[in-house]
Amino acid sequence: MDDLDYGTRDKRGDWRPNGKLKPAPLIAWPVQPLAILKWLPSYFLPWNLAFALSALAYWQWIIPEVSVMQKLSWGWALQLLLINSIAVFLFYGAFECRLYIARAQGARFKYNAKFPADQKSRAFFFQRQNIDSLIRAFGSAVPIWTAFEVLILHLYATGAVPWVSFSENPWYLFGLFLVLPLIHELHFFAIHRLIHTPFLYKWVHSVHHNSVNPSPWSSLSMHPVEHLLYFSLALLHILIPSNPLLAIYQLHFSGFGAVVGHVGFDRVEMGENKAIPSHAFAHYLHHKYFEVNYADGLIPFDKWFGTWHDGTPEGDAQMQARRRAALP
Ligand SMILES: [Zn+2]
Ligand SMILES: [Zn+2]
Repeated sequence: MDDLDYGTRDKRGDWRPNGKLKPAPLIAWPVQPLAILKWLPSYFLPWNLAFALSALAYWQWIIPEVSVMQKLSWGWALQLLLINSIAVFLFYGAFECRLYIARAQGARFKYNAKFPADQKSRAFFFQRQNIDSLIRAFGSAVPIWTAFEVLILHLYATGAVPWVSFSENPWYLFGLFLVLPLIHELHFFAIHRLIHTPFLYKWVHSVHHNSVNPSPWSSLSMHPVEHLLYFSLALLHILIPSNPLLAIYQLHFSGFGAVVGHVGFDRVEMGENKAIPSHAFAHYLHHKYFEVNYADGLIPFDKWFGTWHDGTPEGDAQMQARRRAALP
């Protein structure tokens, strides 16, 4: 595919898509029914549906029997840790292998022309972005994710929190499933603004921002405190009436879904003439410019707070003007 049919490349070789990046039309005034209908498939495809299916697969084949989970034990907890680790390795590894090791589509649709593996940086363990990210993903992200999972499943199994069943309350649970990405966006925006405050940025969030040119393994490359905050949203399912399947979906949405902003390519080519949009541009701009696009545009928080960057040269100019105005 010729990516110049879809965007432009600057003299450094960095590619940006044509047109303006817009927040989802879901929450807008006046209401835009036609725009919402047109946008709706992208709400489910490809990502939300994929994570719903992965949660179902977990429920069917991986999550232990309730009688096993009634007792906290290392056995099933470590088994879940191992399976989550393998799943993360395969999922992120697939993007990494195809796009960054085999470089199957070269730099076509790639926002930053450079590949992180070609550059060393002292910011990272062993000066390597990938090694640093792998250590943080498997040493901190997956264990913290699994700890939340074990705790929540155990509380459901013991009856300590209400377990709403799909047979009795299908519409409530379906409605909850539909709004979970919106709740994720709200939670993500809130914790993200919090960790951009000077103290927490310096000691916590700067780790994630070391990846100025993010690649799939950057997705879970965070300080453990950020992992704790990031995965804590799953605790929602022990605070409100819910179902363990939705808690697993929420964890997959956070754990696997982080790839969405970090894949580094606007489209992932699937053969000669087909490419799947990655929806990565808004968060890529956050990694590039730090002070824009704190949320992903599902809810237009950045528009409301004046930090939206639409990816155009005009967006660059507006950001520069905001920075100048903020100078003492
Ligand atoms: Zn990021
Ligand atoms: Zn940030």
